Amino acid sequence: MSLSVIEPATAAVMEEIPRAGAEEVDAAVAAAKAAFPAWRAVSPADRAALLRALADELERRLEDLARLEARNAGKPIGDARGEMGMVVDTYRYYAAAPERLLGQTIPVAGGVDMTFREPLGVVGLIVPWNFPLVIASWKCAPALAAGNTIVLKPAELTPLTALELERIALDAGLPEGVLNVVAGPGSVCGKRLVEHPDVAKVAFTGSTEVGRGIAAGAANTIKRVTLELGGKSANIVFADADLAAAAAAAPSAVFGNAGQDCCARSRILVERPVMDDFMAELERAVLAIRVGDPLDEATEMGPLISAGQLETVGSYVPEDAPVAIRGSAPEGDGFWFPPTVLAPMSNDDRAAAEEIFGPVAVVIPFDGEEEGLRIANDTIYGLSGSVWTENGARAMRAARALETGVISINSNSSVRVTTPFGGFKQSGVGRELGPDALEHYTDVKNVFVAT
Ligand code: NDP
Repeated sequence: MSLSVIEPATAAVMEEIPRAGAEEVDAAVAAAKAAFPAWRAVSPADRAALLRALADELERRLEDLARLEARNAGKPIGDARGEMGMVVDTYRYYAAAPERLLGQTIPVAGGVDMTFREPLGVVGLIVPWNFPLVIASWKCAPALAAGNTIVLKPAELTPLTALELERIALDAGLPEGVLNVVAGPGSVCGKRLVEHPDVAKVAFTGSTEVGRGIAAGAANTIKRVTLELGGKSANIVFADADLAAAAAAAPSAVFGNAGQDCCARSRILVERPVMDDFMAELERAVLAIRVGDPLDEATEMGPLISAGQLETVGSYVPEDAPVAIRGSAPEGDGFWFPPTVLAPMSNDDRAAAEEIFGPVAVVIPFDGEEEGLRIANDTIYGLSGSVWTENGARAMRAARALETGVISINSNSSVRVTTPFGGFKQSGVGRELGPDALEHYTDVKNVFVAT
């Protein structure tokens, strides 16, 4: 059976590739299992060198990978280049890890006690279509650094850069079987990885609904699980904020990647006294967004990923929706949706409560710090969020009070290679990136030596 990969900007078939099923998953798991003993035995310095070689090879291919990702995921080429840069940086960052996976020595009676961080074995990595190769690197790089072997399942909508990665890893000198890619449906290939007795851990990024099923499925074999799930993050603008800066930054924080971003600050909470001024500034910024061909260097926002996503996003903007600002989008083929701001909204409205995963923001007015923080926390999600204020003490109070894993003050950026990323509440469990990710790809072993 083959899989037709669609280009979202044209809705045309971009490539036909073989579609993997459960048998291919089993073969990939067997290959990863066979490769594990030798891979974990590679000396720390040599494993570090191989990860640096992989980063170098990815960097050499950066422009090709960026163009492939831009076309397949429908993202602006400038964004795609930035993402490929992050992929390279992520492998470089974790290349330093094999030589720094330190244990502890613990004072005990009658001997010496020490701990080791041991690799888990074969890890199954299931990634979504919104940031295909970037999210794969957040998982692959620490997993490889810690000595695990991998079966990576990209989303069926965007498998092309992951398949390239499998080839590039071999070119860079990684042994056969260390990094395996299976491109097939989640309901078959993803499910098989979750059930497979030889898979020690599943790391997943995607919807909260599928994540819930993965957590339940993993329980049968007591697999370790990392889940990076949905979000409905708040961008809280207090009356004492630098309003121009907050309004100028707000659109890219929700319309970046056409809103298909788990970190999207899709609930913009504005303190009532500055609501009108903020909306005027926001309108200017939203109307200036250039939506169009992902391969055009001037493009800032591309199409949605699929016809299905277009239909879902549209359902949040019915005829009678309170559309305050509507940007532009191309007509014709492709899955286009204009940047849209709904205002004023209540936090209980469907568009304010559910993750839309498209270029639709809601603006919710609030009165005072307490109410602003209460509304921000009134969601099942807890991934990221922003606070805009010139009052430093308020910024710190808000940062501590918000129930989210990642917070930015006077900024909307929340993802860095060197810092931990992940969610509170139903946005997930575990952390990726930074020093914390390694914990999720190792188990601690305690050794006592009687003296
Ligand atoms: P999914 O959660 O369905 O997909 C994410 C990944 O999981 C894909 O690789 C998918 O495979 C796989 N998968 C699907 N079903 C299973 C299963 N039963 N067992 C194991 N793996 C599975 O996201 P969707 O693509 O359906 O997007 C729907 C919504 O999810 C979006 O609108 C958005 O709200 C949210 N989402 C959130 C993301 C995030 O970054 N937090 C990323 C993507 C989506 P395949 O697609 O090949 O079938």
